[in-house]
Amino acid sequence: MKKHYDIVVVGAGNAGLSAALQCAVAGKKVLLIEQHNLPGGCATSFRRGRFEFEPSLHELCDIGSAEDPAEIRQMMMDYGVEVDWKEVPDCFRIISKYSDGTPMDVSMPFGCDNFIDKMEYYVPGSRPKMEEYFELLNETMAGTAYISASNGHADSSVLKEKYPNLLRTGAYSVSKVWKAMGLPQKCCDIMSTYWGYLGVDMDRMAFIHYCNMFMKYVSRAAYIPAHTSHEISNAMVERLRELGADIWFNFRAVEFLFDGD
Ligand SMILES: Cc1cc2nc3c(=O)[nH]c(=O)nc-3n(C[C@H](O)[C@H](O)[C@H](O)COP(=O)(O)OP(=O)(O)OC[C@H]3O[C@@H](n4cnc5c(N)ncnc54)[C@H](O)[C@@H]3O)c2cc1C
Repeated sequence: MKKHYDIVVVGAGNAGLSAALQCAVAGKKVLLIEQHNLPGGCATSFRRGRFEFEPSLHELCDIGSAEDPAEIRQMMMDYGVEVDWKEVPDCFRIISKYSDGTPMDVSMPFGCDNFIDKMEYYVPGSRPKMEEYFELLNETMAGTAYISASNGHADSSVLKEKYPNLLRTGAYSVSKVWKAMGLPQKCCDIMSTYWGYLGVDMDRMAFIHYCNMFMKYVSRAAYIPAHTSHEISNAMVERLRELGADIWFNFRAVEFLFDGD
C-alpha cells in the first residue's frame, strides 16, 4: 500500500458504509474494502427474468418525514447523502388465522391512535386495554431513552419513580406482559405479526426489544428507498468518493496485522 490511511473499514454493507462515512466526514483518510464486486451487503437486490428481488430491506424505521426527520434520515443528511425515501402506506397486512382458528385478514395503519381505532374495529371492546397498553409502550420507550442518554449511569431512584413499569416488565417476554395486562387474544394474534422482524417468537422475545421496534414503526411510519436498496449504498459510495475515500471491491480482508502502534 503506497498511501497512508487513518482508518480501514472492512465490509461495504450499510454498517461499513456508514462507519466509513462517519470517519470521512470527520476528515479522516479512509479505505473501505469489500470482498464482493458491489456495495450494500445484505441490503442488495438481484434480477431473475423480469423481476427484481430485494432479499432484505423492505421497510425501514427511524426515517421520518422530510419536515420531521428521524435518526437515519438525519444521519444521511449529515453525511451529505441523498436518498429518495418513499413512505410505506400501512404498518402491515396479515392474512392468516387467529389462535381460535377463525380466518384473519387485517390491515393495520401507522399512528398510535389510528392503530388503536383499527384494533377496536377488528376486536370490538379492545379500546380500553389497547389504550392502557400504549401507555405502557410509551413509558417503556421513555425509560429506555433515559437509560441510553445516561450512558451507563442510570439513576435507579429516577427509574423507580418515573418508569416503574419499565422495571416491572423489563425481565419478561412479550407473551407474559400481554397475559399480565389481560389483552384480548385477538389483539395479541394481530400484534404478533412483527415477530419475524426480530426472528424470535413472542414467548421468548424480550418485551423491551419488541416495544422498541413496534413503536418505531407504528409511531413514525416506515419508508423504503424509491430505487431499491442500492439507491442507499450507491449514494453512500458516491459521497465517500467525493470526500476522497478509497473503496476497493473484490478485495477480501484475510488477516489483521498489528504492529503495536
Ligand atoms: C431476510 C432479511 C430481511 C431484512 N429486512 C429488513 C428490513 O425490512 N428493514 C431493515 O431495516 N432491516 C432489515 N434487515 C436487516 C438489514 O438488512 C441488515 O441489518 C443490514 O443490511 C446489515 O448490514 P451490515 O453492514 O451490518 O452487514 P452486511 O450487510 O452483512 O454487510 C457486511 C459486508 O461485509 C463484507 N465482508 C464480510 N467479510 C469481509 C471480508 N473479510 N473482507 C471484505 N469484506 C467482507 C460482506 O461481503 C458484506 O458486503 C433484514 C435482513 C434480512 C437478512
